[in-house]
Amino acid sequence: MKTRSCIRCHSTTQPAVLENAASESDSLALRIERMPVLTCPEGHRQFVSADFPRWLVEHLMDEDEAKLPSGREEGMLFKHYRCGGCGADLAKVPDGRKTFMFEVELLDLDPFRVELTAPVYKCPQCSREQLHSLKEVRGLTPQVLGEAFRAAEIPPG
Ligand SMILES: [Zn+2]
Ligand SMILES: [Zn+2]
Repeated sequence: MKTRSCIRCHSTTQPAVLENAASESDSLALRIERMPVLTCPEGHRQFVSADFPRWLVEHLMDEDEAKLPSGREEGMLFKHYRCGGCGADLAKVPDGRKTFMFEVELLDLDPFRVELTAPVYKCPQCSREQLHSLKEVRGLTPQVLGEAFRAAEIPPG
């Protein structure tokens, strides 16, 4: 990957590792560990490429979250959720929260870890533990990722 100069002070950057970045919300919490970044001698952090956030959000939504156990959303105005395994109705109130871990590898970068914590619902019939809806988790992903990057002081671009 070609090197970039610092987008804030224009000095030369070095590859570095961001130990962790996190964002918290009731419906979806996200934590990133050991993400590859660039830093300059002034300590400014930036993405290894301006496209990095898009690569990551696409990887999470298309590959990682796609593997999570989830229910099916039904109804337009009055949503309800059915078990993705047996089709039984899921409760409205979650049984707890669960953390799911992914090892993410983007292009030639070192793999790093992303953790998502979301409410889970246990099927009353087959005991499968699952998200209400993958669509909801996917919909929240860009926002929680943006918050984690803001908290870690990584500017867009
Ligand atoms: Zn700088
Ligand atoms: Zn079930």
